[in-house]
Amino acid sequence: DFLHVWGSKTFGSGLRVLDDVDLSVPRGSVTVLIGPSGSGKTTLLRAVALLAPLDTGCVLLDGRLHGYREAGDGHRVLPERELVRARLGVGMVFQNFNLFPHRTALQNVMLAPVKTLRRPRAEVEEEARALLRRVGLGDRTDNYPAQLSGGQQQRVAIARALAMRPKVMLFDEPTSALDPEMVHEVLGAMKELAESGMTMLIASHEMGFAREVADRVVFMDGGRIVEQGEPEQFFTGTVGPRVREFLDKIL
Ligand code: ATP
Repeated sequence: DFLHVWGSKTFGSGLRVLDDVDLSVPRGSVTVLIGPSGSGKTTLLRAVALLAPLDTGCVLLDGRLHGYREAGDGHRVLPERELVRARLGVGMVFQNFNLFPHRTALQNVMLAPVKTLRRPRAEVEEEARALLRRVGLGDRTDNYPAQLSGGQQQRVAIARALAMRPKVMLFDEPTSALDPEMVHEVLGAMKELAESGMTMLIASHEMGFAREVADRVVFMDGGRIVEQGEPEQFFTGTVGPRVREFLDKIL
């Protein structure tokens, strides 16, 4: 599999936030993670992005050890330099956009490719403008985040992640901080990205989007993957009682 993450994580208090999860994401596919608040979705995404290590387990990306430890071997953590490099293969879009407020849309998209990848500025700028056009913001390149709507800011954040040419894109509830009328434009940009063949792992309760775009839906509860399958399965009612109860609440 293109992306494979498995393992466990416990927080200080002894809370097992990820309990023997095992998730595979084929290349070019879209997986939507659903589950109640606190079920471990964010923690799983952060583990894949190498922002917060698993206690035991492993992340494989594109056939390579992507981070952390081999199962059963508590000492094999990637050295910090390699970790930083490995992180670059993963694009992440957060709930609250996290744009740099004192930089324009274009500068936000250009910053990491220029500073971190040390790519030529002119080439990066051309690509950044193309990415902003792609997410429908070709006329907003010189706006600062405060001059943009939430939906526009989130599309800048998507362009910014794509500018690093990631192998996989992670989204953590990308539309949950948006006013309803802006959800559509962000999901539209994500759908276009999915159709372009990007591998995507998305924590979201947008079941309409999941039905239309996802190849797989994964239901988490209490740090475990309780059920997974094609989206249709989650709509036709052929799911266990915990999933049913959750879906009844959000649909
Ligand atoms: P939500 O939908 O609310 O974002 P989630 O499914 O993404 O929920 P996580 O954010 O992964 O769930 O959290 C899982 C559990 O881990 C929660 O009980 C949370 O309180 C706990 N947790 C998260 N981060 C930490 C931390 N740094 N220290 C201690 N506990 C944490």
